[in-house]
Amino acid sequence: MNIILIGAQGSGKGTQAEKLTSSLGVSHVASGDMFRKAFDEKTELGIKANAYLDRGELVPDDITVAMVLSRIKEPDCANGVLLDGFPRNIAQAQSLDEGLKETGRQIDVVIYLDVPREELLKRLSGRFICRANQHVYNLYANPPKVAGVCDLDGSELYQRSDDRGEAVQIRLDIFFNETIQLLDYYGSQQKLIEVNGNQDIDQVHTAILSQLNAFKQRKNKG
Ligand code: AMP
Repeated sequence: MNIILIGAQGSGKGTQAEKLTSSLGVSHVASGDMFRKAFDEKTELGIKANAYLDRGELVPDDITVAMVLSRIKEPDCANGVLLDGFPRNIAQAQSLDEGLKETGRQIDVVIYLDVPREELLKRLSGRFICRANQHVYNLYANPPKVAGVCDLDGSELYQRSDDRGEAVQIRLDIFFNETIQLLDYYGSQQKLIEVNGNQDIDQVHTAILSQLNAFKQRKNKG
């Protein structure tokens, strides 16, 4: 099964993606994580993309689409992927459809995590990420056991520079102006499910699983 998880910055998308990939046995492909990793490794792509990340702007579509399409053609993605942070606009969604078609695959379902903008801003101010594996914590909703240290791999926790200042507003504006258009795109293909993301982490996970099951049953009935 190939899934897209859509949600604004701070919607809990990364946290839910981790839980879902282990529940469903699909590979987690997060475009933002791929860019940050490429920058840490000082690759040409990483250095080029980093200027956009710092400003909170989208990396140009040609760079992003090529990176993600080549990733989902790798063997560990053959049984299904959960795309997190991609696509972020209609042009990327169309390129994704075409790229998947070439390998006889398609997007099966799209999950939208709905969280109001005021709540997103509050959550982003408390968000910390681990250096080693990008595990996500929140000082208010999901704090680490030891301050500043990842529970899962012991690496240092840091606050992303684009979770602060003007970059946050730019990223949220892009989400609510551009990415939100994907709801119509996938809604018209009868692939969209909408989940209330303004609940605690386990409630959101349970809601996603139950809506996914209902979606599959509707699909099987045709
Ligand atoms: P994220 O971790 O998903 O919030 O992504 C961090 C940053 O990576 C974004 O603000 C963009 O600069 C870049 N990025 C991630 N995914 C995409 C995408 N699908 N299209 C363009 N830029 C992206």
